[in-house]
Amino acid sequence: MTEEEKKNQPKVTKELLQRVASYLLPYWKQMLLVLVCIVFSSILTLLPSVLTGRIIDEGLIGRDLKRLITLIVLSLAVTLSANLIGVAESYLNNWIAQHITYDMRNAMYRHLQEMSQRFFTTNNQGDIITRMTSDISGVQQIIANTFTSILSNSITLIVALIAMYRKNWILATVGIIIVPLFTIPTRRAGKSRWMLTKQAQECSDEINGILNETLSVSGQTLVKLFCREEQEYAKYESANRRMIGLNIKESMAGRWFRVVLSTITSVGPMLLYLVGGILMLKYDADLTVGDITVLVALLGKMYGPVNQLLNIQVDWIRSMAMFSRIFEYFDMPVEIRNAPDALIPDHADGCVEFSHVGFSYNPERKILKDVSFKLEKGHSVAIVGPSGSGKSTIINLIPRLYDVEEGTVFFDGIDVRKLDLTFLRSNIGVVTQETYLFNGTIRENLLYVKPEATEEELITACEKANVMDFISRQENGLDTVVGNRGLKLSGGEKQRISIARVLLKQPALLIFDEATASLDSISEAKIQEAIDPLVNSCTSILIAHRLSTILAADEIIVVKDGEIVERGVHKDLVNAGGVYAELYETQFKIKPVEEAEEPVEKIGMDDYQPQHRDWEARRKAEQERREILDEMLDPLWMQF
Ligand code: ATP
Repeated sequence: MTEEEKKNQPKVTKELLQRVASYLLPYWKQMLLVLVCIVFSSILTLLPSVLTGRIIDEGLIGRDLKRLITLIVLSLAVTLSANLIGVAESYLNNWIAQHITYDMRNAMYRHLQEMSQRFFTTNNQGDIITRMTSDISGVQQIIANTFTSILSNSITLIVALIAMYRKNWILATVGIIIVPLFTIPTRRAGKSRWMLTKQAQECSDEINGILNETLSVSGQTLVKLFCREEQEYAKYESANRRMIGLNIKESMAGRWFRVVLSTITSVGPMLLYLVGGILMLKYDADLTVGDITVLVALLGKMYGPVNQLLNIQVDWIRSMAMFSRIFEYFDMPVEIRNAPDALIPDHADGCVEFSHVGFSYNPERKILKDVSFKLEKGHSVAIVGPSGSGKSTIINLIPRLYDVEEGTVFFDGIDVRKLDLTFLRSNIGVVTQETYLFNGTIRENLLYVKPEATEEELITACEKANVMDFISRQENGLDTVVGNRGLKLSGGEKQRISIARVLLKQPALLIFDEATASLDSISEAKIQEAIDPLVNSCTSILIAHRLSTILAADEIIVVKDGEIVERGVHKDLVNAGGVYAELYETQFKIKPVEEAEEPVEKIGMDDYQPQHRDWEARRKAEQERREILDEMLDPLWMQF
């Protein structure tokens, strides 16, 4: 075995087996029943072979018709009973397997829900989906087939061996002499199939990843806008080709294995006839034709299970690999969890304080450095700064999408890590830059945050969010379907619906992460009209890209390279002539994008979805997208 192979083989440790067993344990009663079924059906399956000997010796050679008929009927009855028990066994088996995978899927989904934002931004979505779907389905196969196969084959083997030795020990020994020959091809096939399975699994992850990224609405928009169809097709085609190659190799590895095995298997009966014949004819041994037939029949029944048991070794390695892959996810620590003595205050004011907060997504780069600010009840703060300066990161720390590395974030004077997560998050309403609406109706999207909301509450929220006019103009009103990710709506409409959604939640703290892409002036004004009263009435943090939003806040915090470099009110900051003044001159004041129409919104903010594993690539994609936007929004371009 090469070093690489050794490294990749799953380590079947005691812990792994115990863990697998822990999933089977709750169903021990049903499994016991399966065991009983297996024992009975294994014995009953072998009985007709034994009866064949008596049919030949007593019925045919003994010329006793009555006995012949009785033995034939008995043999048929036994076969029928064995088959009936087999049906019960397979029902029970499936029942157990389905229930175990049901438990596993639920536990995995729960666990994934608890994973932090970091997990979802760093892991490939395709990989997550493969583990949730095909790996767990593989486990179901294992439980339904492999485990019971091991049991039933072992029992059949033992019973057949006993029956053979009771008939004739010399012939029994001759029959099983070939068994060791089986192990050589089995070991070889096992190793190569394990390597192929692993490669196929990785290839399948890759394919899922490609599909997820390129067949999503935003992915397709990106592909179309950058004319990447051919490259994406080539990438997919190459992964697909690798996959079929691996699949063919894998099935052929099994095929050759079976050819060798069946050849070896067919040698056995011939040897029995030869040795049996010699014993009978030359040495006049106490053997009948029926005995030899029984031994050959039993041998036939025995090689089947041996064959399968050895095949199972291959499946076993494969199944352990699948379990290991699943457990690997289960073992990922839950980064953000409720403190054991988490506090649940009676009410929330939405006050926020950052005290010397330091944070980084990965060790190489510090994103936030010594960030401190305080937001009192009913006040509002606007965070401004160049792109990538850390504004969104600051707000990610408040609802604990990530935890701070240094310093503390306080919510109503309590360290957020000491607060109950549900309490914390349900008191914070976030309108994100990338508006995410589910493919359903406007009503369904709104009810997502408050299923018990009345029609009146829905309408009030929509009115406050300035989106009711739009909704009433739609033929189906609140029941208008928004399309995949809300793409049937314009960026402005989506954003206002998402504001209405947050308003239904009635949060103590409102966080509004303003979209960087500009909306047309009408949409912008409508959003502003919705935001202004909210900012005045509740505690709010605004990540602002527009002057109007900035002016609505009580205080402006200017962030650059993860540090707060300036703070104050608009006039003072402009006069100070620092970073803010520069931003004001370059971004807030001059707005060449105001007249930009629909196409700008439709480009799809979702391009910066976490599915872009590599952050450098994500930034690059974002940069490219911005370049396109810049180009489209260029005053010269606009003249056309
Ligand atoms: P923008 O105005 O463009 O939205 P921002 O000021 O909100 O930018 P952040 O999104 O907070 O900036 O990002 C700050 C830095 O952290 C950026 O350099 C970004 O590349 C990096 N970053 C953001 N999210 C992650 C992540 N999940 N993993 C690694 N790095 C990240």
